[in-house]
Amino acid sequence: MGRMLKALSERALELGPVRDAEQTGNWRAATDDDYVYWLVLDRPGKSVNTIDRSVIEELSHHVDQIIDQRPSAVVIRSAKPSGFAAGADIQQFAGASTGEIRGMLKEAHLVLDRLAKVKAKTIAVIHGHCLGAGLELALACDRRIAVADASLGFPEVMLGLHPGLGGTYRSTAIADPVEAMTMMLTGKSMPAKKAKSIGLVDAVVEERHVASAVQAALYNDLPTASRSLKGHAFSVKPARSLAAKQMRKSAAAKAPQEHYPAPYRLIDLWEAHGGDAKAMQEGEIDSFAELIETDTAQNLVRVFFLRETMRGLKEGASGIRHVHVVGAGAMGGDIAAWAAREGFSVTLGDVATAPIGKAIRAAQKMLKATLKDPLKVRDALDRLVPDPMGYGIGRADIVIEAAPEKIELKRKIYAEIEPQLKEGALLATNTSALPLADLAAGLADPSRLVGLHFFNPVSRMQLIEIVSHDAISSETARRATAFAAELSRLPAPVTSAPGFLVNRSLTPYMAEALIMVDEGIPKERIDACAERFGMPMGPVELTDQVGLDIALDVSASLRERLDTAFPDSPGWLQTMVDEGKLGRKTGAGLYAYDEDGEPQKQRLDGLPDGSKDDPDMLDRLILPMLNAVVACLREGVVESEHVADGAMIFGTGFAPFRGGPIHYAKQRGVDEIVARMNELADKHGPRFAPDEGWQRLKS
Ligand code: NAD
Repeated sequence: MGRMLKALSERALELGPVRDAEQTGNWRAATDDDYVYWLVLDRPGKSVNTIDRSVIEELSHHVDQIIDQRPSAVVIRSAKPSGFAAGADIQQFAGASTGEIRGMLKEAHLVLDRLAKVKAKTIAVIHGHCLGAGLELALACDRRIAVADASLGFPEVMLGLHPGLGGTYRSTAIADPVEAMTMMLTGKSMPAKKAKSIGLVDAVVEERHVASAVQAALYNDLPTASRSLKGHAFSVKPARSLAAKQMRKSAAAKAPQEHYPAPYRLIDLWEAHGGDAKAMQEGEIDSFAELIETDTAQNLVRVFFLRETMRGLKEGASGIRHVHVVGAGAMGGDIAAWAAREGFSVTLGDVATAPIGKAIRAAQKMLKATLKDPLKVRDALDRLVPDPMGYGIGRADIVIEAAPEKIELKRKIYAEIEPQLKEGALLATNTSALPLADLAAGLADPSRLVGLHFFNPVSRMQLIEIVSHDAISSETARRATAFAAELSRLPAPVTSAPGFLVNRSLTPYMAEALIMVDEGIPKERIDACAERFGMPMGPVELTDQVGLDIALDVSASLRERLDTAFPDSPGWLQTMVDEGKLGRKTGAGLYAYDEDGEPQKQRLDGLPDGSKDDPDMLDRLILPMLNAVVACLREGVVESEHVADGAMIFGTGFAPFRGGPIHYAKQRGVDEIVARMNELADKHGPRFAPDEGWQRLKS
């Protein structure tokens, strides 16, 4: 079966004479009637090609062959239906010293330089994903033909790196340098058409025209992408310096240099040596070898693997095709739209019709913004069906309840729904805090109930907590986990303890911020402190975003249900809620909000100085969060430290370059943290008492 599928999908790809060629190592090569040397990358046993040492070493051997045989041209492409290549295999750098990495890079550069210099015309044919080192390989060819579905990019910056295999100077020499820099600085991929418009590829063709495009390239009939005038303009340093200044400004707006050095190193490199391939090559190798040793890169690589680990929790398929969502409010509407986007048939119900209309309008906006292609938007909207009468309930493979957070209401809804459910259908709840055992109590078959705790906004937050309870069946948990992965989200299995993992850990962080506000510390300073640490949003602004009413509820519920010391909410918080100041959603909360929903913050330099250098501030915010994660691990709310770290990164945005809360704690030193917590407990109260779980973490 696998072989047949492979043959079928290969039939769709133009592989010239290589189709019948023997595989040796990672490449297959053969020469056609026109004496064109076809070199096809097809790493055995992998669904996507990555570039590692063995690929480069074998390529070197093929370059020898090419020099020897003097073919009329060389075509390089991939036999994988998924695409050209997904980039370098980052695992190969694990544990290597800077010196070793520099050595590896130099060897690889030598091979690509030799490829770039062969007399025969070299043509890269690119389909699907062409990323990082894959793109660098294509850039070492003379010509690039992209198949219409191709997507090209340099994602290295997301791992705290920049391209390291010639990408920095080849892309800026071949394409519009400012566009190429932007591509490397943002890590965003671009579709084939855009790549052509900036000069990165020479032609865009349909797969069925690949053979004739290769012929055209062979006989010089393929127009070369002309380097824009801009390319020449930036060969002088003052022009580059001006552009570099702008680039530094945009980079700084996104990520501070102190935490994310790679973009700044890349800008420096281009500013100093743009247009001088040799100098850029040397600089690129040095800078890459240094960057990969930084904590930031190591931690971001770790985050990359955490994501893989979480995706890997999926066992088999969910068997879900039709999703029904009950409650078209803030969450239900988003969940329904996202599921439709990911290819599920979705029906969306509510007691009222107005929220459904609003949800469909919001869905249009989200789909347009994330899918871009109007045909895909239309198809996704076709899959999203308003269903005020709840006809979908009896047909759905999963019903997701996203009604208001009231236990009686939810139970009433289940009582109505359960008798209508199809055999084998799952019942999921998006509850943030209600105990699943209580929700399951009235069900005839509690084994089908599962918590699918999505985060707001669904389209941006990658995490879903998969909440289990005593009566859940292992099949329900398995299918729910698979469903999360099929939604392109990352599942984190947790037990139904108060607040699960993420809210339980985030709430003390927000609660402490409110105590600080109560103590008179300016809220802007509190937020800035957390943001400097690397949190995406300060805790005061986050409280406004979540809603003061919800924050108050969640705090009260955790205080009541947890036996750890939990701070009291300041009295004025309740007063604000009573006055209808609920945060961003009402235009006023701890901050005032402008029409665009932006908080009106005072400049830090205009604030009173009293609390400026308070050394406790950061630890007061961060350590209670770590403490809660440690407690969750001890209690078995979450089983693995990796999943705990991943859940906090993908569910709260916990500074990714720190590798996750547990990783951060271990790097900083468990003993030191425990000592700090004891100190803070003496000073500020028992809420800082270190959890017993820290002892276990040490071993
Ligand atoms: P919401 O108030 O925005 O939406 C709830 C919707 O349910 C409303 O449209 C309401 O008309 C509808 N509804 C009420 N009774 C119903 C019934 N009997 N049958 C069908 N629909 C009914 O609430 P929300 O913020 O979307 O929250 C929904 C759930 O998701 C809650 O359990 C909440 O705790 C949880 N949650 C919320 C967030 C968040 O950030 N808002 C995040 C994660 C989880």
